[in-house]
Amino acid sequence: MRKTIVIALGGNAIKQADEKGTAEEQFKNVQTTCAQLVSMLKFGHRLVITHGNGPQAGNLLIQQEAAVGEIPPQPLDICGAMTQGQIGYMFQQTMQNMLWKEKLPLPVVSIVNQVLVSEDDPDYQDPTKPVGPFYAEAEAAKIKKERPDYVIKEVKPKSVEKRFRRVVPSPDPIRNIEYIAIRRMVDAGIVVIASGGGGVPVVYDKNENLRGTAAVIDKDKAGARLAEVVGADMFLVLTDVDAAKINYGTPQEKAVRTVTLSEMKKLHKEGHFKAGSMGPKVLACMRFIEWGGECAIITSLDKAVDALVGKAGTRVVPDPVKE
Ligand code: ADP
Ligand code: MG
Repeated sequence: MRKTIVIALGGNAIKQADEKGTAEEQFKNVQTTCAQLVSMLKFGHRLVITHGNGPQAGNLLIQQEAAVGEIPPQPLDICGAMTQGQIGYMFQQTMQNMLWKEKLPLPVVSIVNQVLVSEDDPDYQDPTKPVGPFYAEAEAAKIKKERPDYVIKEVKPKSVEKRFRRVVPSPDPIRNIEYIAIRRMVDAGIVVIASGGGGVPVVYDKNENLRGTAAVIDKDKAGARLAEVVGADMFLVLTDVDAAKINYGTPQEKAVRTVTLSEMKKLHKEGHFKAGSMGPKVLACMRFIEWGGECAIITSLDKAVDALVGKAGTRVVPDPVKE
C-alpha cells in the first residue's frame, strides 16, 4: 500500500567519516542514497526527506572564521540556511536525474525551512551541542573576549591542545514555520526535502516577529515533527548501523527488532541508547508513535527497503489496543 514516509538521513548519506567533504565525494554519496529513495518512490510511496548538516555546517563555520578579516562572518542561523540550500540542491538534482531516467518525472524540491523553538527550553541554561572549529586555550580566551555571547567549553581531554569548542543549545523543535506550504506540496505529490540540519531554529521576539537563534536542533527530533506536520504513516531513520542495539558495544549486544512503544520506552529508560547519537533517534521514533504514527524504523541506508516490509531494522509500533 502506498504510504507517506518521512525519511531522516544521517551524516553518512552525504559524507563518510573518512572523507574530506569535496563536492565530488558528496555527490557520490548522495547518488547512493538517492538510488534507495528512488526505489521507494517506484513502489508508489510518497517521500518527505530530511537530513543532517553537521560536517557541512562545521566546514562552513571554519571558512567563515578563516576569512574574518575580509568578509563579515554570518551567524549560525544563516549558516544553517546555507547548508539547507547546499545539501538540498545536491539531492534535488541527483534525484531528478534518476527519476527522469526511470521515466517517473515526479517533482522534487528542497525548501529553506524554519523551525520554532523556545528560549525557555532548558538547554539554553546549559548548552550542549558543539559547533565550528576547535580552539587551543589561548584562542578560546581571545574568542570569548571578542564574542561575549559565545559559550565555550572544553570538549576533549587535557592532553589535546585544541580541545575547546563553542557550544550552543539544542532545543526541542516545536513546529515547522512553513508547515502549510510543506503539507500542500506533499499533498500535491511533490517530493519535499525540508527541515535540513534540523531546520533553521527561530523564536518569536516580543513583537511577535520571527528571528533566528544561535542553536542547533537535533535532526531526528525535527524529523519526527515534520512527520506529524505531513500526517506521515511511517517515519524512517537511516543511519550507519542496521538497528538500535541493547547492551551496545558489549558481548551481550543484541539488535532490537519489532517492539511496541511501551517495550521501547522501557529499553530507553534502562539507558541502552547513547545521548547525542542513538538516544534522539529512539526518542524521535517514540514521539512519532505517540502522536499516532503506524511504524517508526531505525536502520541503515542499504536495509531501508527491507525494513519497510518488516524484514530488517528496529521497528517501533503502537501498543495493542485494549478493550
Ligand atoms: P547520524 O549521522 O545517522 O545521526 P549518529 O552518529 O548520530 O549518526 O548515530 C548513529 C550511531 O549511534 C552509531 O554509529 C552508533 O555508534 C551509535 N550508537 C549509540 N548507541 C547505540 C545503540 N544502542 N545501538 C546502536 N548504535 C548506537
Ligand atoms: Mg546524529
